[in-house]
Amino acid sequence: MSKYVDRVLKETAAKNAGEPEFIQAVDEVLTTLDPVLKVNPQYEANAILERMIEPERVIIFRVPWVDDKGIVRVNRGYRVQYNSAIGPYKGGLRFDPTVNLSVLKFLGFEQVFKNSLTTLPMGGGKGGSDFNPKVSPHTPGKRCSDNEVMRFCQSYMNELYRHIGPDTDVPAGDMNVGAREIGYLFGQYKRLTNEWTGVLTGKALSYGGSLVRPEATGYGDIYFSENMLAMRKQTFEGKQCVISGSGNVASFAAEKLMQLGATVLTLSDRSGSIYVKDGITPELLAEIKHLKGVKRGELADLKKSKAIKFIAKKNPWQIAPSYDCAFPCSRQNELNGEDAAYMLKNGCTLVGEGANMPSTPDAIAQFVKAKIMYAPGKAANAGGVATSGLEMSQNSGRISWSREEVDAKLKGIMKSIHDNAWEAAAKYGQKGNYVMGANIAGFTKVADAMVAQGVC
Ligand code: NDP
Repeated sequence: MSKYVDRVLKETAAKNAGEPEFIQAVDEVLTTLDPVLKVNPQYEANAILERMIEPERVIIFRVPWVDDKGIVRVNRGYRVQYNSAIGPYKGGLRFDPTVNLSVLKFLGFEQVFKNSLTTLPMGGGKGGSDFNPKVSPHTPGKRCSDNEVMRFCQSYMNELYRHIGPDTDVPAGDMNVGAREIGYLFGQYKRLTNEWTGVLTGKALSYGGSLVRPEATGYGDIYFSENMLAMRKQTFEGKQCVISGSGNVASFAAEKLMQLGATVLTLSDRSGSIYVKDGITPELLAEIKHLKGVKRGELADLKKSKAIKFIAKKNPWQIAPSYDCAFPCSRQNELNGEDAAYMLKNGCTLVGEGANMPSTPDAIAQFVKAKIMYAPGKAANAGGVATSGLEMSQNSGRISWSREEVDAKLKGIMKSIHDNAWEAAAKYGQKGNYVMGANIAGFTKVADAMVAQGVC
């Protein structure tokens, strides 16, 4: 490791003690950048790493709201506006009790490189709250009602609206923030500003959303992985696959894999994992989508049968005896070194990350060493934000593209991201190392823009 990277990593750890996810994300990127820093001394001269690590702005605010029993509740709201060198801040909002500054800084930092990789003009940001829509504050075993979620979203926007805008910062959804929450947030923004603009993406079709946005992250993950397979003259036909999660990203990754002739063996959620030896059918996937979406239930509630095995409180990685491909689509650090060793021993040759930072550093090191097709989240899950970029273009042009047009553009973007990562890795002597390739390709564009814009 170069002295420059070593020094910046030490300073980051000292300055951000108590933020382990953020330090992990910075470490993962910086430790791959030496080759590009060596031939570009202007980056160190302009303190590019130091500046990239520090968010441009962090906003933390109180979110008071009234529950259905009339009790006042208070959550903490955040927006991390990370880097605007190549475009307005762009990144999702996450509502989950695990949300804190460390998690949002890690997600915002990753988003900067991811958005750069999409080739669209978008800076990086992330936000959210520790609000938990899945747990009612007053009735055990129940979720927040729609009205409670609406009141929370309106209060959250009462502060956020002054910091965002179509040319400043364009939030979207993330965990527990889907079409319902985006609708409530958009309605309140419009009321406060008296403006109809594409200030949020992930909107419903009836008011400016884009076709294929809901599917885009899951589909994009599979499109990226198809490109990796093509480099080895393979396809998904007949491949055995495991997926974690059963939310937005996981369900559409499963759908696309089935369309391409692969067998999907698992899905999971907080209650546990399901394992279907002969493969999840489209009908079962539709039932799971209904259970998780409309009924807001858990996989544990799924009707049991001989064919569907449910394993409580376990990730899918060590449940199936063997498989070819794995898609972590749930949350950060959900796949550890022990899982990676099991996967490599049992025939897994492709990992396409739908979630952000799902693999621990130990797991990543094993995948890279084994030279399997390993796609880091910032490249493989960039299809969601890329399609958000397409939604922004449609909103500002007051046009809407057909499903086929958006899907074709998404496919094209995922191929460009793949090829850019492949070429960047090859250029620096690490052919097939998508971790290094994605980091270098994403970094270089932002770094060059920052050098050009002076010290700011
Ligand atoms: P969802 O909320 O739709 O789904 C998340 C899934 O992960 C659910 O099945 C959830 O289970 C499961 N999960 C969450 N926490 C845990 C936990 N502690 N233990 C076990 N399972 C858990 O989110 P998305 O599908 O939108 O996001 C998934 C990942 O993809 C995240 O890392 C997100 O940042 C990333 N991502 C999402 C994008 C998007 O467009 N949506 C874009 C790029 C990345 P349960 O239902 O029980 O809560």
